[in-house]
Amino acid sequence: MVFSPQNSLFDISQDKKIPCSRIVTVAVDTGVDNVFDYLLPDRLGDVQPGRRIEVPFGRADKLTTGFCIEVKSAGTEIPKRKLKFVKKILDAEPLLDGRQLEFGKWISDFYVCPLGQVLSAMVPAAVKKSAGVKKLKHVFLAASEKNIDKLRSKKQKQIIQAMKDSDALDAESAVELKGLLERLKIGQSPLNRLVQAGIVKLTSRTFLRQLPVVPKGLLLKTSEVILNNDQQKVLAEIEERMNSGDFSVVLLHGVTDSGKTEVYIRAIEKAVERGKSAIVLLPEIALTAQTVQRFSSRFKNIAVMHSQLTSSQRNAQWQKIKTTSPIVVIGARSAIFAPVENPGIIVVDEEHEPSYKQETVPRYNGRDAAIKLAQLSNAVCVLGSATPSLETLYNCRIKKHFVRLVLPNRVMDLPKPQMKIIDMAGERFESHGVNLVSSQLLAALMQTLQRKEQAILLLNRRGYSNFIYCPSCRYSLRCKNCDVTLTFHKTEKYQKPVELKNRLKGGFAVCHYCLSQTLVPRNCPLCGKAVTMIGLGSQRLEDELKTKLPEARVVRVDSDSMQHHDYYRLLADFDAGIIDVLAGTQILAKGLHFPNVTLVGIISADTSLQLPDFRSNERTYQLICQVAGRAGRSSKGGRVLIQTFLPNQPAIKFAVNDDFEEFVKEELKHRQACLLPPFGRVALVRMRDVKHDRLMRATGAVAQQLNDIISSLSLDIKLTGPMPAVIGRIQRFYRMQIILRTGSPGNFTELFRKFRRLKIPISTTEVQVDVDPVNLL
Ligand code: ADP
Ligand code: ZN
Repeated sequence: MVFSPQNSLFDISQDKKIPCSRIVTVAVDTGVDNVFDYLLPDRLGDVQPGRRIEVPFGRADKLTTGFCIEVKSAGTEIPKRKLKFVKKILDAEPLLDGRQLEFGKWISDFYVCPLGQVLSAMVPAAVKKSAGVKKLKHVFLAASEKNIDKLRSKKQKQIIQAMKDSDALDAESAVELKGLLERLKIGQSPLNRLVQAGIVKLTSRTFLRQLPVVPKGLLLKTSEVILNNDQQKVLAEIEERMNSGDFSVVLLHGVTDSGKTEVYIRAIEKAVERGKSAIVLLPEIALTAQTVQRFSSRFKNIAVMHSQLTSSQRNAQWQKIKTTSPIVVIGARSAIFAPVENPGIIVVDEEHEPSYKQETVPRYNGRDAAIKLAQLSNAVCVLGSATPSLETLYNCRIKKHFVRLVLPNRVMDLPKPQMKIIDMAGERFESHGVNLVSSQLLAALMQTLQRKEQAILLLNRRGYSNFIYCPSCRYSLRCKNCDVTLTFHKTEKYQKPVELKNRLKGGFAVCHYCLSQTLVPRNCPLCGKAVTMIGLGSQRLEDELKTKLPEARVVRVDSDSMQHHDYYRLLADFDAGIIDVLAGTQILAKGLHFPNVTLVGIISADTSLQLPDFRSNERTYQLICQVAGRAGRSSKGGRVLIQTFLPNQPAIKFAVNDDFEEFVKEELKHRQACLLPPFGRVALVRMRDVKHDRLMRATGAVAQQLNDIISSLSLDIKLTGPMPAVIGRIQRFYRMQIILRTGSPGNFTELFRKFRRLKIPISTTEVQVDVDPVNLL
């Protein structure tokens, strides 16, 4: 008797005598922080860890999907425990292998996230729903010569001949139907009659659409190079470590243009020669584009994983990784979950980048996850940076698996760019009005354009102005959902009714936290005087450049404009000299390699210093250093002009003097004094609720729970708070936080192991744990 899975569950749950010799443990993706056992009816067949199964969950037995994480013998336990039955086994093969399951468990423990959610996040949705998989009808010739010749029409004969020509004589060699008819310019009906007569048979095949991930014709040219001595030394060291077969972490500390990427490529070549795969993580999608362009000419099997792929592309790339070995996977942080069978080397470029941290569950850091995965795979993890994070530098000092290798010089022995600070306080007295571009920077820009060279200007803020303000009554436009001012975004596209035109400014005020938009009055709603725009944004910079340099071809690059521009096209245009100046946000700071860029301007080096974050100095140093790396990538040399209101700020001064060692020394002193990373670990417990008083009660209770565990286990953890978050309200939710600090990460694991089992004191208050946060807002 054949059971369809639908009916079998019904039968089974009624009949406890249904044979079940195994129990499976399932991690369901419901946010419940636990795993559950189910009985597996023997007739459902075999299941392995890493496959998904469907189970009834909760009081209402809602059908829920989860990953099988363990299969064990049911033994004689069944009568004692009331277990529910598995309903259905999904996936023909495991989506996650043993190592990945272990990796997922580590993330779940370390980052305090339910295992079901972690495992679910490790497999792209596109894979789970088989995006891009199509069924196509195929046909083959099933009858012998004799039958065929009987009174067939001309069109039918044509069809038959075509199938003979392509040897479509059995299901294996069937040809695709639609294409065949199109080629012959014949309709469906002659074929239908052949099928009815049993001469032609139909079969269907599944296909995964394969779309290229790099637009054709936009691959940049690359050339083979001979490694210099420094590169060779570093490569030899990495190779030795790969050969040893032990886990290790190499910090490749090399200034911009010291040839780090070339070393990654060579090291990966060595791994591939030994049949091992590689994962290369990059902090930005924009960089992925460049790297893919560069790696494509060096490796046969490349796959790309990042959020801008369409879902069928993503599924195709994932399947390619799953079925190809060795392979080189290039992608953003989530590429660390790529189903690579045998990773030998994992590269994390720009390892200090905060964008490696995921800000939604699971809140992992891609860099640290990469180190863990390397450990689980006995692979080498290479962390590359010109300005390594203090955490990594410190690990190299104290941990035996870590080593720091240095590439001290630029490859071409090009002179370092000249760095110069422009004190904007002085600038203010010289010219009136808002000037994002100082007279010195403007003069430099003009000079650059005259020489037919190119410039990059960096302004780390989107929009036009971030403060819409009435100077007479001090009213400012604020978000109704969040505790922040609104950012003005200019737009020409919006057509206003004529009667409103004189009363509104031409654009929207946008909240960068909840994305709500509102129109902006010309006059203050309170006192009727004209409102003004304060603060800077990339749109305003673009406007100013258009007025001050009317001849220049300026393109703004930020996440607003990049929705319209094709990034690959933009890079190609800049490379071809069709664009003179790229002006924009951080997206420009990294990786770009354009020899004709001789001027880089940082519009405000102060923006990152204004963040209430203990890493703000580090970020400022990194930013200046990185942007500077965009200038002078040829013998033409380069200049970097840094505008600031704080010319004596230490991070800025150290960066301008290119004195990383001194900067690190100074910064470590402060960190040590406050038990902050790298000396201590930080975890943040964030809580939010739409009701303020309820939130206050909940945070008090959560702090109590945490304090109780800390004292009962005598953990050395410092608890600060509860206190309001830096932005006290976002999307109508009030926000509070508790900061935890400890000298040893093991303390957090113990604390949270207990804490996550407790009930949240007030169920409407959302509680999040963020271990190693990079954003304290
Ligand atoms: P990084 O990653 O440190 O910024 P890259 O590896 O991108 O440096 O190298 C910068 C540029 O120098 C690239 O165009 C690269 O092709 C080139 N390059 C790297 N190594 C060498 C070398 N040994 N000889 C000549 N050119 C090199
Ligand atoms: Zn808002």
